[in-house]
Amino acid sequence: MKGTRSVFSDPVDPPPQGTPWTVLHLLRWSTDYLKEKGIGGGRLDVEHLLADILGMDRLQLYLHFDRPVSPEELDTFKPRLLDRARRKPLQYILGKTSFRELSLRTDPRALIPRPETEELVEAVLGRVQEWDGRALSALDIGTGSGAIALSLALEGPFERIVATDRSEDALALAQENARELGLQDRVTFRAGEGLEPLEAGERFSVVVSNPPYVTEEEFEVLEPEIRSWEPRDALVASEGGMSVLLELVEGAGSVLAPGGLLALEVGSGQAQGVAERIRSVSGFGAPAVLRDLSRRDRIVLASWEPPAPS
Ligand code: SAM
Ligand code: GLN
Repeated sequence: MKGTRSVFSDPVDPPPQGTPWTVLHLLRWSTDYLKEKGIGGGRLDVEHLLADILGMDRLQLYLHFDRPVSPEELDTFKPRLLDRARRKPLQYILGKTSFRELSLRTDPRALIPRPETEELVEAVLGRVQEWDGRALSALDIGTGSGAIALSLALEGPFERIVATDRSEDALALAQENARELGLQDRVTFRAGEGLEPLEAGERFSVVVSNPPYVTEEEFEVLEPEIRSWEPRDALVASEGGMSVLLELVEGAGSVLAPGGLLALEVGSGQAQGVAERIRSVSGFGAPAVLRDLSRRDRIVLASWEPPAPS
């Protein structure tokens, strides 16, 4: 094994003559290689990379340990393994990730959608289920890859969905995702900051957002996968990470329909501050804070109940 290690060193040499790579051999060697590069859990990454190239699912690899890996397959695999060693996130290398029922294209134009955000969508869908009979609309602010808006389009009862982002790059990716999923007629994409892309008087049954909420200091100590590869502007916000969240709380009343729902994903330690700001804005009902699967306060919900005009 030791002798074959140079195969993947930079520059990449061809495999030693007479040594055919098999699935198992390559899995073992590559897992070791990632481990040497300080990447724990590399086995799973390698399995995903190889399965994708061989057109199998991960578990099928285990039934094909002795399958030879062709020189072409190896040529595709090597640069991807090197990218992973450079801490490129697996989802950016594969160019896709799953989010709820969707397979979304992912690349460094936008944040990789997170499992916590699947729960944000779940919370929204749970609430709107109780609203039979209304013509529903939703606004996703900072849509990134389009994860939230496209899931709401697929799974929810919405007649109209608007998704915004201040990043043109992210919006382009979100639109590609919408087209690939055949959801392009269900979601309207608009570029701009905060509530600025909305027209005067436009109101929605749901305003949902997973905005940037990481502080500058937190960002500096995030994993290299995040810090070096994901768009910084998708993650970092000023004022202890609260600036965009608080702006949304302040502005949401002007774009929510009466009885509508504000649903926000927040960072650790931020839920109470966000809930407090909601209580201070007249028109909101009592906020609810929900935990994620790791039992962290992660989602803040509040309904918009302005006093009826007298
Ligand atoms: N919604 C996606 C998701 O959950 O995977 C992306 C979330 S990412 C944390 C935040 C997104 O909001 C980024 O795409 C970023 O470009 C965008 N963004 C940041 N600040 C914004 C603002 N003030 N107005 C509109 N979009 C903003
Ligand atoms: N949960 C993301 C992380 O990995 C942050 C997402 C966000 O800032 N909205 O830190």
